[in-house]
Amino acid sequence: MRNVYADNNATTRVAPEVVEEMLPYFSELYGNPSSMHYFGGQVEKKVIEARGKVASLLNCDPSEIVFTSCGTESDSTAIRGTLDSYPYKKHIVTTRVEHPAVLNLCRHLAKNGHKLTELSVDKKGNLDLDELKKTIDDNTAIVSIMYANNETGVIFPIEKIGKIVKSKGAVFHCDAVQATGKIPLDMSKSTIDLLSLSGHKLHAPKGIGALYIRKGTKLTPLILGGHQEKGRRAGTENVPYIIGLGKASELVLNHMEDENTRVKTLRDRLEDELLKSCSNRQVNGDRKYRLPNTTNISFEYVEGEAILLMLSEKGIAASSGSACTSGSLEPSHVLRAMGIPFTFVHGSLRLSLSRYNTDEDIDYIIEHLPPIIKRLREISPFGKG
Ligand code: PLP
Repeated sequence: MRNVYADNNATTRVAPEVVEEMLPYFSELYGNPSSMHYFGGQVEKKVIEARGKVASLLNCDPSEIVFTSCGTESDSTAIRGTLDSYPYKKHIVTTRVEHPAVLNLCRHLAKNGHKLTELSVDKKGNLDLDELKKTIDDNTAIVSIMYANNETGVIFPIEKIGKIVKSKGAVFHCDAVQATGKIPLDMSKSTIDLLSLSGHKLHAPKGIGALYIRKGTKLTPLILGGHQEKGRRAGTENVPYIIGLGKASELVLNHMEDENTRVKTLRDRLEDELLKSCSNRQVNGDRKYRLPNTTNISFEYVEGEAILLMLSEKGIAASSGSACTSGSLEPSHVLRAMGIPFTFVHGSLRLSLSRYNTDEDIDYIIEHLPPIIKRLREISPFGKG
């Protein structure tokens, strides 16, 4: 049986080059980068190098990069840190389709004295920019909008959004955890003030992230303590992982073209074949403005979890927008926000590829998925077999 990993929006394989680069920093090179002696100095040099590589990926200054433990911490630092910096502004704007790292935090803050606006999306997952314009006022501290959606891959018009946000004087935070590494990002031409990224979505390990903080942006640290990261994120640096993120960022720059050509071609072939060979199905999300690696397809009258289990038996790893995969019994909040009918929401399947996927992987999914859908429909209580 073949193993096909098609769940790269959940997490990615750590690139072998990344592992190799990290290994010495667990064994012989274990100094603390803050130490005065040569042992710390040689490690500090590598941390500086890694910061430079992450900065190159975003085309920003290395001093604008702060290492964190994950995308969630970067999001929390951006949002809580901005609110702490502007205590007289109580309004937060976000969207109904954000990742829980943003949405659950904002909803928590709304229960504790803040005012929250959650922007809606249309059936393709796109935002109404007039609604955004109308909602920002003098009381708005921060607008937090994701670059690309983790479930559908839909890309928001971030620079148009940023122009609106900046013209109204609010801070613009962008959760770019899914976009980083898949599409080019250039902070030198951007309106983004704060940008979150996460290592494990771009072939670095889990447990390392970064926050881009544009020079001059006021931000109170989330974690206070020592002087690390120029006082912006206390705690002894996770040296091997920082070095891993640096290497992964360097590799991403080399692989960006592959992601946007070969990987996109694989995704498009997979999607087209599945649409051809299955009835009562639809692609969720705008097919034009989308990450090159992601497809989210709903099959009516089947359960996403049942598809996942049967795919797993064939060695195929994918993800469902609904219920158990997210650890909750609720169907996908993203698909519901898009107004997708319940019969489709429950049968949603996300396939997300990476540079490690091959033509043979796609052939294998195309061979096994349609018979699974057919079989599930035959036993469906809705009688649509
Ligand atoms: N934001 C988005 C859009 C994500 O997809 C994820 C993870 O899936 C996160 C934030 C959280 O990142 P992390 O797992 O590094 O905390």
